[in-house]
Amino acid sequence: MKEKTLVLIKPEAVQRHLIGKIISRFEDAGLKIVGMKMVWIDEEFAKKHYTEDISKRRGEFVRNKLLKYLVEGPVVAIVLEGVDAIENVRRITGSTEPKTAQPGTIRGDFAHVSYKYADDNNMAVKNIIHSSSNEEDAKNEIALWFKKNELHDYKTIQDYFF
Ligand code: GDP
Ligand code: MG
Repeated sequence: MKEKTLVLIKPEAVQRHLIGKIISRFEDAGLKIVGMKMVWIDEEFAKKHYTEDISKRRGEFVRNKLLKYLVEGPVVAIVLEGVDAIENVRRITGSTEPKTAQPGTIRGDFAHVSYKYADDNNMAVKNIIHSSSNEEDAKNEIALWFKKNELHDYKTIQDYFF
């Protein structure tokens, strides 16, 4: 089934000049960019992205670190469309902890830190990108970051193959 999902290139990755390399991973896999922009959000907005749900799953400490991290600089927000896009984008993203993320994934190739290192040093795990984890999150996150008229319906070469 064709789906849409949200990716955020986090501040550190923007500052490390990784935008192009990250986008290439998704384009190379045949995922279509249907929305994209650079935004410097404030903490109020960050709270809407990393909701209370993060505190429940990962603890208040992690959420607070994330809220500070996400506003350190601009992020690149992207909506990708493709077959089973949510699951496929998570697969290309790699697992949350860079230390255990497989080589070949974005987190495995561009980062290496552990949960322990991040926690001991009082910071969010800097794992390069965010990607929506399920259908409900994708729907809510896309609606939070993009207006309807910022999402585009058009054909790419991939539409002739899929
Ligand atoms: P994701 O969906 O793979 O990004 O993981 P989550 O939604 O569970 O967590 C959101 C973000 O919180 C992750 O991308 C990390 O940046 C950060 N994070 C998650 N777990 C931890 C942790 O145990 N310690 C710290 N310091 N940061 C964490
Ligand atoms: Mg998540």
